[in-house]
Amino acid sequence: MNHGSRIATLLASLLGLLLAANGWSQETTVYHGFTRLDPENATVTEDAFLVVQGDRIARVGSGTPPRNTGWSYVDMSGRYALPGFFDTHAHITIGPLRVEVKDGIPTFRFEVIDDIHRHNALIALAYGVTTIRNPAGDAEANAHYDAMIASGAWLGPQAVHAGDLMNPGFPHYPRNAEEWEREMTRQRDLGMTYAKLYSGLTEQELARGIETAHAHGLKTIAHLDGVSWTRAMELGIDELTHALPTSAELLVEPNRTAYLESRKSPDAKYMYRWFELVDYDSAPFQNMLRMLVDKRVHVDLTLIANEIVYFYDQIDNELKYPLEHMYPDPAFQGNWRQGMTASHFGWTEDDYRRAHAVMPKVLELAKRFHDAGVRLSIGTDGTGGSPNFVRELALHVQAGIPAWEVLRLATSGAAERLGMEDQRGTLARGMEADIVFLNGNPLENVENVGDVDTVVQNGRAYRAQELIELANAER
Ligand SMILES: [Zn+2]
Repeated sequence: MNHGSRIATLLASLLGLLLAANGWSQETTVYHGFTRLDPENATVTEDAFLVVQGDRIARVGSGTPPRNTGWSYVDMSGRYALPGFFDTHAHITIGPLRVEVKDGIPTFRFEVIDDIHRHNALIALAYGVTTIRNPAGDAEANAHYDAMIASGAWLGPQAVHAGDLMNPGFPHYPRNAEEWEREMTRQRDLGMTYAKLYSGLTEQELARGIETAHAHGLKTIAHLDGVSWTRAMELGIDELTHALPTSAELLVEPNRTAYLESRKSPDAKYMYRWFELVDYDSAPFQNMLRMLVDKRVHVDLTLIANEIVYFYDQIDNELKYPLEHMYPDPAFQGNWRQGMTASHFGWTEDDYRRAHAVMPKVLELAKRFHDAGVRLSIGTDGTGGSPNFVRELALHVQAGIPAWEVLRLATSGAAERLGMEDQRGTLARGMEADIVFLNGNPLENVENVGDVDTVVQNGRAYRAQELIELANAER
């Protein structure tokens, strides 16, 4: 166990003692009258009840709940209960991106603003997200986040983190073996679980990053571009993110040469170009797919990231993303728009038309991954939860993945990918009491996932509306 998590465990056990001393951990609440949905087994239980004792689920059943004086009873008739959701790509500690030019070389840095992180946490929880995997963020801010959540000073999902992303131009980019060693030690000591290896690293740097991270007990997650997913898996990568395996290595001639030629202009058009040129039945793609399955590599596709890039021309009308939830801070939202606008520099109407046209092919990639048995999970590439979480689930359903299965990827499937299946991800006796009560049935319409009535985290219940009001009031 590393230093950070040792402190977290110590805090948690101290807190447990205090709560036990007050009798809080003995408090029992019975939720009853709702419909329980179990994505792991694809079963529906009508008139269900859950007995929550302290921070655990003590009993699960249906019909008349057990009676006990001194227990609290909450009638949840008309609601649908699911295990607390997982967002496996939530940059909960992200802030505005700042570009600084030093000696003529631009460097990038994400600003650390506590207020934004606290707000992100409340919004994520309001959307029923009780656990996140943060796939990159300021390691110190991440450690601070964990301390705030553990102490109860902030309300929000429990998190596992990757630290500062490692890429040329970013402040924690290691330039040699010694710097890799130092950076991995620093991130590990701050309690990080993953090392984030980014698209600008060379194959040699990626190999060194994977090796050094593993030597420090860190798992590796990568967003890649030039280096193919296949090559990264040969090098031992643990997890991959974004439906953007945009390496030329995965294309066949003459498309490979055409693609490489188009990459000479440094813009974001490659994000749709690659999908125009890829053949899912070709040997390089099929080989990658087989390897993803054989090596059990966990992938979160963040389909919404493709959609936002391809349909950026419609961001304020047809798409209607309530950006104020995603980026509540006006300056932060402005910053995000600025970055997106810059990446679309030079896009013509024809580029947008072509980008729109590849979205079905992106969804087909998701379907093919799922059908082949790739270990997927639901991640938003946002700040945690928010309408983006609902959209990401909807895009997976639109891809042709059954709703039950999509709900599983957001609950027990994600828990398994993150190695937490013994504690979270199912509503069963002995599990952490992380529960979402929805007002509508997500099997009928997956967008009902966004209609949260109440979220229970570690046995404590919060009305979604109150969390949103709290998030907005605190700003
Ligand atoms: Zn991301």
